[in-house]
Amino acid sequence: MKNSTEYKEIVAAVTECKGADFELKSLKIRLPKNDEVLVKIVATGMCHTDLIVRDQYYPVPLPAVLGHEGSGIVEAIGSNVTELEVGDHVVLTYGYCGKCAQCNTGNPAYCSEFFGRNFSGADLQGNNAICTHDHQAVHDHFFSQSSFATYALSRENNAIKVSKEVPIELLGPLGCGKQTGAGASINALKVSPGSSFVTWGAGAVGLSALLAAKACGASTIIAVDIVDSRLQLAEELGATHVINSKTQDPVAAIKEITNGGVNFALESTGRPDILTFGVDALGILGKIAIVGAPPLGTLAQFDVNDLLLGGKTILGVVEGSGVPKKFIPELVELFKQGKFPFDKLVKFYSFDEMNLAAIDSHEGTTLKPIIKIN
Ligand code: NAD
Ligand code: ZN
Repeated sequence: MKNSTEYKEIVAAVTECKGADFELKSLKIRLPKNDEVLVKIVATGMCHTDLIVRDQYYPVPLPAVLGHEGSGIVEAIGSNVTELEVGDHVVLTYGYCGKCAQCNTGNPAYCSEFFGRNFSGADLQGNNAICTHDHQAVHDHFFSQSSFATYALSRENNAIKVSKEVPIELLGPLGCGKQTGAGASINALKVSPGSSFVTWGAGAVGLSALLAAKACGASTIIAVDIVDSRLQLAEELGATHVINSKTQDPVAAIKEITNGGVNFALESTGRPDILTFGVDALGILGKIAIVGAPPLGTLAQFDVNDLLLGGKTILGVVEGSGVPKKFIPELVELFKQGKFPFDKLVKFYSFDEMNLAAIDSHEGTTLKPIIKIN
């Protein structure tokens, strides 16, 4: 760092080592160049993925600034930015190259550089934008943003401009959890009117998928979880049936409710035993989307002939399989029309309550924490 005027002072929540509490620290961030934008973070969702990275299920190098559901206001832009202006409201989503075979065919969530751009703890050249006051690099670029901070550096293609008519502090979770759940139902499973749908796990992602399945016209909507308060919320949001899998055999219950098996399912618990149940509970030609993320290397079992003879499909789904520039504004529109009331899932916390938010999320008392930063 030769020229200190190229940096801005920030406060960031740092994860020092595996499983550690978030610690607020005074740091510096480099100003944007080329296609980068500096965003003043107004608020950021906390997603289960932040917590599994804190706990090192995914090997993002630490110490790092995590956070990947940032929303805020464009503060400064690099010289190649053409579509964003200072003052725009943006939702930050995952990074993608925009040039590979998948990006070119409308599948940026499967970008060939996905891991490097989202989980490497640096930019693609291995450089960091955040450092301490004595110039020690801190791992960043988490989901091309690291939004647990007062300012975040992202790129033009993953800072999605949104309407100023909706409070920006609410919209960060559309960048990951809400987009993942809603997109799994709308883009990946393509839930059809009159069909049956089950979410295994009634957390932030599962209930977003449930809301979207309802918007798609599913008529039998089932939620499975082990936390009664989450099942109660699922009912309030439109579940026609709820199952506590601690007290009831969920596969038998689903087969009974759906007369033999469910059409569409979402696995959002991140547990291989639940995936086995999920495949078993599908009806003929049923489809299950996997979004829950277990530790790397986890294997799951299913009966090959059951899958084969039933014509069943298992789909892996990253970030809802949509195009964020199109899909996030569409979700904002559905929200404005009252068809995607994801605000019922959120609870706000202040920046110094990050660890409380993580505990509440882990214990199931809060579905989607949003941390107010600025
Ligand atoms: P969450 O913790 O809010 O939800 C998980 C739910 O599963 C909880 O309600 C929990 O009670 C329930 N559950 C746990 N064990 C269960 C069991 N044995 N039976 C039934 N229910 C059980 O987490 P979230 O934010 O909704 O995220 C869900 C998963 O999706 C996480 O693994 C997260 O890392 C992953 N995720 C994936 C993507 C993606 O792109 N694929 C994006 C965002 C999140
Ligand atoms: Zn996430």
